[in-house]
Amino acid sequence: MTQQRKVRVRFAPSPTGPLHIGGVRTALYNYLFARQNGGDMVLRIEDTDSQRFVPGAEDYINEALAWLGIKIDEGVREGGPHGPYRQSERRDIYRDYTRRLLDAGRAYIAFDTPEELEAARAATPNFQYDASTRMGMRNSLALPADEVKRLLDEGAKYVVRFKVEPGRDVVVDDLIRGRVTINSSVLDDKVLYKSADDLPTYHLANIVDDHLMEITHVIRGEEWLPSAPLHVLLYEAFGWADSAPQFVHLPLLLKPDGKGKLSKRDGDRLGFPVFPLEWHDPKSGAISTGYRESGYLPEAVVNFLALLGWNPGDDSEIMDIDTLISRFRLDHCSKSGAKFDFEKGKWFNHKYLQMLPDAELAALFRPVLEAHGVNPADFSDEYITRAVGMVKSRINFVADLWDHAAFFFRRPESYDPKAVKKRWSAEMPAIMEELIGVLGSLPSWESAKAEPVVLDWIASKGYHLGNVMNAFRLTVVGECKGPHMFDITELMGPDETIARIREGIARITPAE
Ligand code: GLU
Repeated sequence: MTQQRKVRVRFAPSPTGPLHIGGVRTALYNYLFARQNGGDMVLRIEDTDSQRFVPGAEDYINEALAWLGIKIDEGVREGGPHGPYRQSERRDIYRDYTRRLLDAGRAYIAFDTPEELEAARAATPNFQYDASTRMGMRNSLALPADEVKRLLDEGAKYVVRFKVEPGRDVVVDDLIRGRVTINSSVLDDKVLYKSADDLPTYHLANIVDDHLMEITHVIRGEEWLPSAPLHVLLYEAFGWADSAPQFVHLPLLLKPDGKGKLSKRDGDRLGFPVFPLEWHDPKSGAISTGYRESGYLPEAVVNFLALLGWNPGDDSEIMDIDTLISRFRLDHCSKSGAKFDFEKGKWFNHKYLQMLPDAELAALFRPVLEAHGVNPADFSDEYITRAVGMVKSRINFVADLWDHAAFFFRRPESYDPKAVKKRWSAEMPAIMEELIGVLGSLPSWESAKAEPVVLDWIASKGYHLGNVMNAFRLTVVGECKGPHMFDITELMGPDETIARIREGIARITPAE
């Protein structure tokens, strides 16, 4: 059937708001599958629902995919031989294909007003517009031909409905779910086209475009599974059943806790983004956080998302994009929903940050320094890079670097009172003066050489090692945590270290 054709997939979002992280996962799976098979990835903007159109959403989609490194072969920005790729620019095509269905008797024109439909629903419980009810409605099957003509000549508003033949088995073959058979009698005569805005509905536009764009695999979220039987019937009605694409309905992303689909509210409630990029709602002005702005690396997000619904069959977790492309298996995706474990997302970011060269991490840290009022130009590249290297194992996000490395860039503003109470006894200022002397006569500031000299001095004086070293740290860092003390002082150098000890002696009031 589709085997010999070049693999072509499409990501077909509707620009109704920011792309949700679930949509990003769909795009990613399409991308991995296309690359793995040397195929093409199409980005099609499904903007036929003018009511739900949101300005800026299309740009957002393009920007989000670009940030994540999901490359599009044909699309609104890229162009390509099957354009236009924005459905609102393909009206002529849809009009033509609607006409074909009408001419073939596979669709009909319906004039029912919203009020009439409402009345029908009120009169009949579980009313469905289908073979059992359509002859009682106002449409081209039920009305005399001259009446239909008169209404059309008058310019009456109408829709075109698909004429579903009842009592047939409709077979949907899904790569993940297997074969699903449903009876056509449960389907309604879906609206395919609306004269009011001269636009098709999602169903018609989606099928026509998948066909014309030569799509071989429709990889999309599980929420579209209920539409699949209708889509199968549409391919058949158009005479395209033999070249119909393979369906692949991906498992839902579920709440991190409890049951049900992941929603934006879960993100707000538990404090994680559900959008790839920050989104500024054009109507309300509300801002939603994004993975990018929250400090995630795109590679980490890609790796994290790839494993939400698929696994490589062993315990590999860290996989770069090339590894994902070669190992990904569409038919190994799970049927059941994937819990959105955002703690795992942080873990991936942590791991990817560790893999970055320190110099790159330092470059990412510069804007954070600036945001905290530090001018990065006051420090050498090497200084920032080494400071970052010393604390990076403790961070999940670039912004966390500030919490762990701020002291490298400014002297303590205050001294942790608990540590003062514990370590800064009345004798400590004199011991610190002595320490200044020891440091002043060190032959080398190198961590490994300085350390034994200071430790020997502490031992020879019979001082308490923990108290002296923590008091030392308190003056330099402001609190009793951080990287290895002599690594810190090696980087800061003698002048800054000694200046900080002096400042500590002057400013810290000994505990009683
Ligand atoms: N426009 C639909 C969406 O917004 C596309 C569904 C599909 O891929 O067929 O998700």
